[in-house]
Amino acid sequence: MDLNINLASFSSSEKNISENEIYDVLIIGGGPAALNAVLYTARKKLNVAVITDDIGGQIATSSSIENWIGDVDISSSELVNRFYAHIQKFDVPIKKNTKVSSIIHEDTVKKVVCTDGKTYQAKAIIVATGKSPRPLGVPGELEFVGKGVAYCTTCDGPVFVNKKVVVVGGGNSGVEAAIDMLSYASEVVIVQNLSELTADPVLMDKVLNDNRVSVVYDSVCVRIEGTNSVERLIVKSTKTDKEETINTDGIFVEIGLIPASNFVPDMIKNKMGEIEINVDCSTKIAGIFAAGDVTTVPFKQVVIAAGEGAKAALAVYNYVITL
Ligand SMILES: Cc1cc2nc3c(=O)[nH]c(=O)nc-3n(C[C@H](O)[C@H](O)[C@H](O)COP(=O)(O)OP(=O)(O)OC[C@H]3O[C@@H](n4cnc5c(N)ncnc54)[C@H](O)[C@@H]3O)c2cc1C
Repeated sequence: MDLNINLASFSSSEKNISENEIYDVLIIGGGPAALNAVLYTARKKLNVAVITDDIGGQIATSSSIENWIGDVDISSSELVNRFYAHIQKFDVPIKKNTKVSSIIHEDTVKKVVCTDGKTYQAKAIIVATGKSPRPLGVPGELEFVGKGVAYCTTCDGPVFVNKKVVVVGGGNSGVEAAIDMLSYASEVVIVQNLSELTADPVLMDKVLNDNRVSVVYDSVCVRIEGTNSVERLIVKSTKTDKEETINTDGIFVEIGLIPASNFVPDMIKNKMGEIEINVDCSTKIAGIFAAGDVTTVPFKQVVIAAGEGAKAALAVYNYVITL
């Protein structure tokens, strides 16, 4: 989906990030937590740079936000553009389309290694990498991503006008995705591993009362098949072990989100992969801070992530000035 996030119009004046410089702080991520951390660190006149895969983060997969205080209903692209325009006032180097692959943290100066092989250095790091969709992990999934397998109805739903789709997952995300798809698809099949849907009753009513929706209960995905694009999903009953083939044009995977923290040292993560933070967003490793959905902070929301980003930035300021 074209979210009209018009970053090109801002990028001409952006400074390049340098491998030779030791920054006060490197911020990893481009969602609400990271962008607010940029605003707060820049206003404290810290020497800050950003490394991120994209600008906007999860909001970019949503159509509108109705709980950002001050805006009754704002389109996601408008909100991201406003965040980005705000931080552009500060001439901060931002390296986009780049993933961080590891952090070397033994010394006071930390090193951030990227998947393109480049390494950047800073006295402190704020990890604000959020969450990403949990994959099914079955044969055919990776092969058909973008060819029928999708993780965001807001982004990819319009591709399936008058088509049959499967939504895997019967919780709030799955049922919301099924409702979204009723605007496009001719038929929606929900595959749920339990014997009932676990979404809020008001959402369940919407799908269970629509004759275009059917639910396959007590079933798990086994593999995805097709030639050039998805043609079939094979599921297996958790009760009888019997396999069933569902012919479909598309599969939306809605089985939850996982913290994007694989590059973060294990010693500061819990079993779920969330970064364990103190109230000021510091971690067990001096100089590594974290904010937003990637952390143990409860309630994953834009306003909370943005607030945590501000908090991490102020804590970094206190840390850096005492070094
Ligand atoms: C469909 C949907 C609808 C939502 N609707 C609402 C809503 O209406 N209201 C609300 O308050 N919240 C909503 N949320 C939740 C909200 O979007 C999140 O709580 C918020 O975006 C979290 O912000 P964040 O900055 O912590 O992480 P994210 O938004 O996840 O941003 C993470 C950033 O880190 C980058 N990144 C990830 N890994 C790496 C890496 N290895 N290297 C470099 N960069 C990396 C990503 O590219 C991204 O820029 C919704 C979420 C979804 C998925």
